[in-house]
Amino acid sequence: MESLDRLFKLQTIDLELQVKQEQLKRLMAEHPDPGLEEAQACLSNKEGELQLLRRDMKDRELEIETYSEKIRKLTREMNAGRGGAKELMEKQSELDSLKHRKGELEDRLLEMMERMEALVPEVTVVQHDVRQRQQDQSLQQDGRQQEIALLKDEIAKLQERREPAAASVSQEFLVQYEDARILLLGKLVALVQRDRCGGCGIQLASRILYVLRTEDPLLQCENCGRYLYKGCP
Ligand SMILES: [Zn+2]
Repeated sequence: MESLDRLFKLQTIDLELQVKQEQLKRLMAEHPDPGLEEAQACLSNKEGELQLLRRDMKDRELEIETYSEKIRKLTREMNAGRGGAKELMEKQSELDSLKHRKGELEDRLLEMMERMEALVPEVTVVQHDVRQRQQDQSLQQDGRQQEIALLKDEIAKLQERREPAAASVSQEFLVQYEDARILLLGKLVALVQRDRCGGCGIQLASRILYVLRTEDPLLQCENCGRYLYKGCP
């Protein structure tokens, strides 16, 4: 049955097209690494903290220097021994207060230095993670783009082959075939393999197999209704 031959050819092209189009759809919908965005946000946070810390440390150092200068000046004045006992006591009290405040600032600076010591390697680790993820992603993107281009090319070629294949099938078959694309999952023609219907898998009766072998009939599977095709001669 020659027209069954042509219909089977068209069906094979369409089924292949369907697979490729689904592959393409899946590939296009794939999202890049979501961990990268997270790592980038983490890096940005840590770098921001580092920048702030550096600025604060510089401010504290300047403040400490100002206190040191005041302390030196006051100490010089006191050593010079000018003024009375009351004035001296006031200066001593001011000196104590300056030293106390300077001590507090130095403690704070020390805490900042400790945080800095921990933060710098943390930033390095996250920087490395981000770089690695960026490299991986760009490699993946390259591979993905190649795969997409290949699939598009294959789809275009199949579509080119489909046109003459569809034109060679009789109008009557074509109408049935279009209906079958929904009802029979795109298979109107079932290839007979190992005495079974290639559409539903049922074991075919011996008389059907006999007719298929000896004649060239248009037979339908009694189970699924597909046309039974014995393959290319
Ligand atoms: Zn069947």
